Amino acid sequence: MTTSDVSPVVHARAPGKINVFLKVGSLLGDGYHDVAIAYQAVSLYEDVRARHADDFSVEVSGTVDLSRVPTDASNIALKAAQLLARTTGYRGGVRLHIDKHVPVTGGMGGGSADAAATLLACDALWATQVPRETMLDLARQLGADVPFALTGGTAIGTGRGDRLSPALAKGQFQWVLALAEFGLSTPAVYSELDKHRDRHAQDIFPATTTPTVHPDVLQALRAGDPRMLAESLHNDLQAPALHLQPALTEVLELGERSGALAGIVSGSGPTVAFLTADLDSALELQIALSAARLTVVRATGPVHGARIIAA
Ligand code: ATP
Repeated sequence: MTTSDVSPVVHARAPGKINVFLKVGSLLGDGYHDVAIAYQAVSLYEDVRARHADDFSVEVSGTVDLSRVPTDASNIALKAAQLLARTTGYRGGVRLHIDKHVPVTGGMGGGSADAAATLLACDALWATQVPRETMLDLARQLGADVPFALTGGTAIGTGRGDRLSPALAKGQFQWVLALAEFGLSTPAVYSELDKHRDRHAQDIFPATTTPTVHPDVLQALRAGDPRMLAESLHNDLQAPALHLQPALTEVLELGERSGALAGIVSGSGPTVAFLTADLDSALELQIALSAARLTVVRATGPVHGARIIAA
């Protein structure tokens, strides 16, 4: 038995997300795009456990394909722990264990959830008591989706997607998610969008206007009305994701033929999220898609952002 086996453990949990609306504006100077996103946190969680250690290390387990998750210094959870240590002047390290349930490179913000849960777990383990605003600032430095993984619920993100304002939402939405065996890299999907826009620059309304979330989305979320939300789901990254992975078109069509109100590529994909009318329809759709040999999970949203489960 090593010392760290008997040392205290802090367990934090953070959710994955679905972008129910994503509009991409122009490319900003820092290489990011100006976006308008309506985020919904969903009940697929990343569990991070943190233990005292002299240096920084991470191990990963989970129910999703873990082959693309690094365990070296490029793991975003390690970056989060090191950033917190640097910011607070904490001199020790941490041993992290991540239990992953959000598909990797799936467009559902799994890495961002790991970073958010790690910030909370290390802050509690090290008793660094970082104020909420500083925590959000550290989250922003780690990635555009990390602040939302901290706050959860339903929110509108503008700028790089990291300037958040909460949105009112009623009830629970029932989602069925079709996971892909392959990943799609977020920068590759954005770059495909840029190439498409360059090719059609004359025909497309200039992307220089600041993107906004359509009011119908906000109304559907406020009303808790899945049919209304199904009609206003939108993702500017869907076309480039389908261009890079045409097989996703069949998945979308199959889900919509099998009872989904609507389907949408989640973020930069390749996960396809289907919105259903209620739990019964979600269960039926799950069976239909599984019968077609797709890997399928159900999730509900909105759910809480990152929080400490046990300390
Ligand atoms: P987003 O929707 O936020 O763009 P994503 O859900 O598509 O992200 P992630 O699973 O968050 O993708 O990870 C994207 C990349 O980050 C992967 O290629 C992986 O190599 C790297 N990565 C670094 N740390 C992690 C981590 N803890 N979990 C998963 N991927 C990680």
